[in-house]
Amino acid sequence: MQTDPEPLRTALLAYVEVLRRTGRRSIRLAPGWQQGLRPDSPFLPEAASQMPPVAPPPSALASLPSRQPIASPSPTPPTQAEGAADGEERAARLRELREKTSGCRRCPHLASFRSQVVFGIGNPHARLLFAGEAPGAEEDRLGEPFVGPAGKLLTRMIQAMGLEREDVYIANVLKCRPDLPPGTPGNRKPTPEEMGTCLPYLREQITIIEPEAIVALGATALEGLTGLRKGISTLRGSFLNFQGIPLLPTFHPSYLLHNPSLKLKRQVWEDLLLVMERLHLPISARQRGFFLAKSQP
Ligand code: SF4
Repeated sequence: MQTDPEPLRTALLAYVEVLRRTGRRSIRLAPGWQQGLRPDSPFLPEAASQMPPVAPPPSALASLPSRQPIASPSPTPPTQAEGAADGEERAARLRELREKTSGCRRCPHLASFRSQVVFGIGNPHARLLFAGEAPGAEEDRLGEPFVGPAGKLLTRMIQAMGLEREDVYIANVLKCRPDLPPGTPGNRKPTPEEMGTCLPYLREQITIIEPEAIVALGATALEGLTGLRKGISTLRGSFLNFQGIPLLPTFHPSYLLHNPSLKLKRQVWEDLLLVMERLHLPISARQRGFFLAKSQP
């Protein structure tokens, strides 16, 4: 019995598109893969060898076509050489800023408490930037934001969007771990004053990276970015504006860890779906249904 190959083809193309959009440059094929192709297929080795070489996309998420340019749209699209140069320039500017930040002592009490400045990590031309509030003990030790349990959950959230951590950029409003009295366990929230002092660094990171969307993780990060104190429950679900870039507030992953209700997970996921739509990322029916309550029998 012959089965209709169309659904499989559609699913396969959608999967390849996700890989392409997230920067994957090759796919490993099982031996004998050519047997399933038509004799005139352009993907057979003889035909492929005659095809012009295809340059790899400049980088993961940045290779996505920008259908709704938000930050400084250029009148003509950049060539691949220009794109690569732009990518290198952004990386160099970020390196320079990281260097400048690493010796910062604008907050003397934090500078003497920290192990190191936690600058941020990710793709210099990411289309999506996640902003948290401040490094905790683990981040301070390792020099990378979101590496503890909340960071692992954030990574899973990013992967649920069809992306990898390396595709996006992750940074905090405050680059140094908030200090605590000696022997006090845990972490403390940064004060508005501390965040206000450090915010210019994140602003500059955003100016360099030019993301097309920002997700503010938690009420403290949102307050640090915008000064708004209304709370995530009130403000989540719709975009705000930050430096001309759409900013979506949602709950902090650590809040989800402490309140693991299906309703809350769904709310966060709906926020991320909004971001995916804004970035024109492919969304499958399965993704749309994540964390929906199962209907009662
Ligand atoms: S928190 Fe920011 S502004 Fe304050 S010392 Fe650290 S890097 Fe500098």
